[in-house]
Parts: sequence; structure tokens; C-alpha cells
Amino acid sequence: MVEHVDVAVVGGGPAGISAAVASAAAGKRVCLLDEGSRPGGQIWRHRLGQVPDEAQSLLTKLDAAAVKVLFRASVFDVEDRQGSWRLTLSQGERRVAITAEKLVLACGARERFLPFPGWTLPGVMGAGGGQAFLKEGLELHGERVLVAGTGPLLLPVAASVGKAGGRVLAILEQTPWRRVLGMLPVLLAHPSKALQAAQLGRSLFGVPYRPGWWVQEAYGKDFLEAVRLTDGQREEVLECRWLFCGFGLVPNGELGVALGCAGTHAGLQVNKAQESSVNGIFAAGELCGVAGVDAALAEGAIAGLAAAGVWDAASVEGHRLVKARARARSTGRQLERIFALRPELRGLPRPETIICRCEDVPYGAIDPSWGSRETKLCTRAGMGPCQGRVCGPILIYQFGHTPDTVRIPYKTTPVGQLIAEEP
Ligand SMILES: Cc1cc2nc3c(=O)[nH]c(=O)nc-3n(C[C@H](O)[C@H](O)[C@H](O)COP(=O)(O)OP(=O)(O)OC[C@H]3O[C@@H](n4cnc5c(N)ncnc54)[C@H](O)[C@@H]3O)c2cc1C
Repeated sequence: MVEHVDVAVVGGGPAGISAAVASAAAGKRVCLLDEGSRPGGQIWRHRLGQVPDEAQSLLTKLDAAAVKVLFRASVFDVEDRQGSWRLTLSQGERRVAITAEKLVLACGARERFLPFPGWTLPGVMGAGGGQAFLKEGLELHGERVLVAGTGPLLLPVAASVGKAGGRVLAILEQTPWRRVLGMLPVLLAHPSKALQAAQLGRSLFGVPYRPGWWVQEAYGKDFLEAVRLTDGQREEVLECRWLFCGFGLVPNGELGVALGCAGTHAGLQVNKAQESSVNGIFAAGELCGVAGVDAALAEGAIAGLAAAGVWDAASVEGHRLVKARARARSTGRQLERIFALRPELRGLPRPETIICRCEDVPYGAIDPSWGSRETKLCTRAGMGPCQGRVCGPILIYQFGHTPDTVRIPYKTTPVGQLIAEEP
């Protein structure tokens, strides 16, 4: 039997949970779907018992709300059934279908990787990916770790490395000092973030923070052994066991784009009520552009209320949410400017450096005059299991590609479930 709900929310991070709680409070039948094993999304993916206090009140509200929650549920297809949406998802061995009057997309963002020689060696992983392993309990037992890339996320990652017993050799921030100093007015305008930064600073006391430096190459036979770094003039080699390296985040826009919602690879477009260009589809959080947890919480609540048909921007709560959203989005734009990627990073890959790691496509196999479709057809870049989620943003950055059309399955799905009869 196919279950029918008023509002289906895809994504159980801060944005999706806020949306689900808000729609349910308005009396709607709500279903929240997430491919993870518990609610919280990327920021709150801690082990049970270690969830931070700021997450707990929202998670308690979700527990108390009449929301049907499905975990380990990857939405891999959505169809427009003229007046309702039919979502098909893979949940373990099961293929499940749900129909909904309204959709809230809160699919978040993923890490951006940029290629350099050695970036596919075991021991090299994304900064957020490393953070995810640490939250799940990775222990580092005095191992030497280099944290590199760009953005404020590098600091909590380095702090988590320290907590897990690792020795952080340095934090390499590709943005130069003069731009990093642009963080001061941001912090002054947000006392809670300034406090957070001060706490992180205390826990990272003695760890060199090196703006204007980036990784040029990672070496090792079977596992990472050393990293060569540069500031464009000088070079150094650091021996290390782990390199956690991430270059910001890119929105998971595939589902929205496939459903015809307007937007770019930088995020889906929404109106003031968080409704996308497609009637009945709302979007919230990192999916609409990277702006952090405060934007996700405010936008999720607005989207949930709007999907339930009770959004009132003129109410006291409406005012509060609109203000919180504007403030968080403005901070997001400032951070985007401060941590913009430097052009030198484009020059790092060599002809043999892998660009698409699913299909083993080297940089030298891609003709810079090709567009995204030719690159796919001639090299199979983007056609492996991750369907371009890793190499897509790389190709945009390296060659200015515009992403190709999105097709089902929107998530890696067992073939048996793809070809199964409709439930
Ligand atoms: C790897 C990573 C680590 C991060 N770590 C931190 C951190 O330590 N501290 C910090 O302040 N910020 C961190 N961030 C940023 C943080 O994600 C945002 O600030 C905020 O949590 C965004 O909330 P959101 O609800 O928009 O998205 P998310 O929290 O990303 O939640 C989106 C959810 O949607 C689910 N999803 C996506 N597509 C589908 C689908 N098709 N089917 C089912 N489920 C789907 C995902 O599983 C995910 O749980 C991290 C981001 C990433 C990518």
C-alpha cells in the first residue's frame, strides 16, 4: 500500500527537522525521510548520547511531534502526479513509495573536493568527511594530521582531531590573511559565533593556523606518508598519516533541478515563503545556498509553515524567522566572499591526476574545449556510482562546465529496486 501524507520532507538535517515539526504543529500529516540512520543531518551526526545541547531541543520536538520518520531511506525518484508527488525510496532491502500533496526539499550540501596529485590516496579525505568519521568515533592515537582547504569548518574539524587523540600539525587555509581578517566584523556582529570561535581558539592553542597556504601534493606508497604545501612562493614537506582537506560545500540540488525548480549549482531559487519556482515544492537550508545552521533552522520552519498553508510573515513568529533568515543569509554571503577559491588551485592537477575517481578518468583525458556532455560521452566522467557528485563540482571549477541534465536514480540504488514493480 502506498501511504499518502500532506507534506513529505526530504532531508533530516536542521532544515528538514524544523520544516517537519512546523508542518506537524499546523495539523498536517507529515513524513520525514533521510538516508542517514538518525536525525540531525551533517552537523548533528554525533553518536547517541553525544548530541550537542543546541540540537537536543529540536530533536525532542521531533520526537514529540506526529511525524512519521523513515531513516536509511534514500529518495531516488520523484514523479509529478498532477496535484500530488510520488516519491520512491530505497530503504534497506525495501522499495517504498509515498505520495504527498506538498514537498519540502531539505537535502543539504556535500563537500567540494579539488584534485591535486595524491588526493585519492588512502589517508586523504574531505574535512567534513573526516569530521563525520570523528563524530562516529574514529580514534587517532597520537597520529599526525594535517587539516587543509578553506572555510570556518576547518576549525571544528581540527578541534575534533585533537579530541580524538590526533596531533594537528597545522590548519592550512587557502584564503590569504587579509581576507581572513574580514571575519572580525562577522564575529563582532554575532556574539554567539565569536564565543564559539574563542572556544575553538582555546582548544586549538598551539596549532599553527596558516592562511595563504594550500596543499600541492600528497605522497605515499599504499597510504599517505607526507604532504607538500606551498604559499605560492615557498614550499614545505610535512610527514603525516592523515590529511583532512575540504574546499567548502556545494548544495545537493539534484532532486529540485530534476523536478524543474529554477536554480544553479550554487543553490535552488526560492521566494520569501521558501517556495521554489514549481508550485507545491518548497526548499530550505543548504540546498538554497550554503549559509550554515541558523539559515537552515529559520528557512526550514518557514518552509514547513508555508507547505502547511499557515505561513504568516506579519506574525510575531514570522517576523522573528524572517529576521533570522536575513541575518544568516547575509553572513553566508560574507563568508562566501572571504573564502572564495584562489585561482592557483586550478593549476594543481597533473595530466595523470584522477578527476573522476569512480571511472578513473585522468585530468589529461579531458579536452578543455569540451562541454559537460562531451566530457561525459568521451571519458565517462560523472557516470560512475556517485553520478558526478564528486567530479561534477570539480569540472565546474576546473573547466567552467554547466551541469548536465539530472536523471533518475537521484541516489545510488540497487538495480533490483529500480526495476521492481510499483508497489
Ligand atoms: C560533510 C559535512 C560536515 C559538516 N560538519 C559541520 C560541522 O561539524 N559543524 C557545522 O557547523 N557545520 C557542519 N556542516 C555544515 C552543516 O551541514 C550546515 O551548517 C547545516 O547543518 C545544514 O543543514 P541542512 O538541514 O540544510 O542540511 P544537512 O544537515 O546536510 O541535512 C540534509 C540531509 O538530507 C539528507 N538527504 C539528502 N538527499 C537525500 C535523499 N535523496 N534522500 C534522503 N535523504 C537525503 C542527508 O542525508 C542529510 O541528512 C557540515 C557539512 C557537511 C557537508
